[in-house]
Amino acid sequence: MYDVIIAGAGTAGLTAAIYVQRAGKKALVLDGAGYGGQIINTPEVENYPGIPKIGGFEFATGLLEQAKALGAVVDFEEVLGIESVEGKEGTAPKEQTDAAQENPADKIVRTATHCYRTHAVILATGLTRRKLGLPGEDQLLGKGLSYCATCDGAFYRKKTVAVNGGGNTAVEDAVFLAGLCEKVYLIHRRDRFRADEAEVRKLQGLSNVELVFNSTVSGWRTGENGKLCSVQVTDRLTGEHQELPVSGLFVAIGQVPAGRNFDDVVAADENGYILAGEDCRTSAPGIFAAGDCRTKKIRQLVTAASDGAVAGMAACSYADLFTRN
Ligand code: NAP
Repeated sequence: MYDVIIAGAGTAGLTAAIYVQRAGKKALVLDGAGYGGQIINTPEVENYPGIPKIGGFEFATGLLEQAKALGAVVDFEEVLGIESVEGKEGTAPKEQTDAAQENPADKIVRTATHCYRTHAVILATGLTRRKLGLPGEDQLLGKGLSYCATCDGAFYRKKTVAVNGGGNTAVEDAVFLAGLCEKVYLIHRRDRFRADEAEVRKLQGLSNVELVFNSTVSGWRTGENGKLCSVQVTDRLTGEHQELPVSGLFVAIGQVPAGRNFDDVVAADENGYILAGEDCRTSAPGIFAAGDCRTKKIRQLVTAASDGAVAGMAACSYADLFTRN
């Protein structure tokens, strides 16, 4: 029996575990994809208060070790379902009312191999990279197509690659790859970046980065070995196509909610984000949502950590209702 079960071992989930353990309660963190969430693939973090510069891997590993040292249990199993002990799956109330708070119900959290009973659940399942949606995209993965420059960049040392996107991830990826590769095309569908000015400034002076603005990736060609040899880009203003000879394409066009959003137990919006405000309360009593998977305006490392603290403490208050009743 755990007081709080947390789905997701990213920044929000592990921060929640720290707060639950420090409140004297028992936390179990479950994540089928390993630990660290998205930050583990970020080359450098420069905007976390109090830490001027840190690698994403180092940050995530430190967080994992901190949560475990405080007694949190972390298991690499995916949460497949959540059921209310007193109700049936899919019948959780859609309003988190005070009456529901007074009559709390335990939950069963299911994985492929276990059924865990808990007082409260925190969903911190994060986001995953958006795909281009082009035919053959899945087949090209590992053969020139990647969604993670930090993970796969080293395979393209001294080669020519393209990055697609205009946000912080794409610009950071382009800067990172410029240090490894002979040439980097940065393809963006507009002529202005969405990325922070501080990130965009890092592109200046990089003579091996060529900006391809107002353009989208519309296709690609592969060689006899099935590996990528060029990408086709289409100018959105003129409709003209051009072919860029590249052996790698790094897609960084934003994110979508990762895996399950548990919409059989909590309400989600039309894009799959779990409906929850700054208090991290969802439509289901005793189920909280923290970090990038919930509806919010600003998705940053620091707001994920903040959500972890809020959700962790709210889950502990909910768990306290069981000892009072
Ligand atoms: P993002 O900020 O949502 O940017 C996605 C980019 O991809 C945008 O430039 C967008 O174009 C473009 N795009 C979206 N759909 C597209 C499509 N179908 N085809 C072509 N282009 C498309 O995503 P992100 O860069 O992954 O960042 C996600 C969040 O993490 C953001 O909040 C970001 O600030 C944060 N982040 C922060 C850091 C940091 O602070 N160091 C690092 C990485 C990420 P438009 O601009 O035209 O919409």
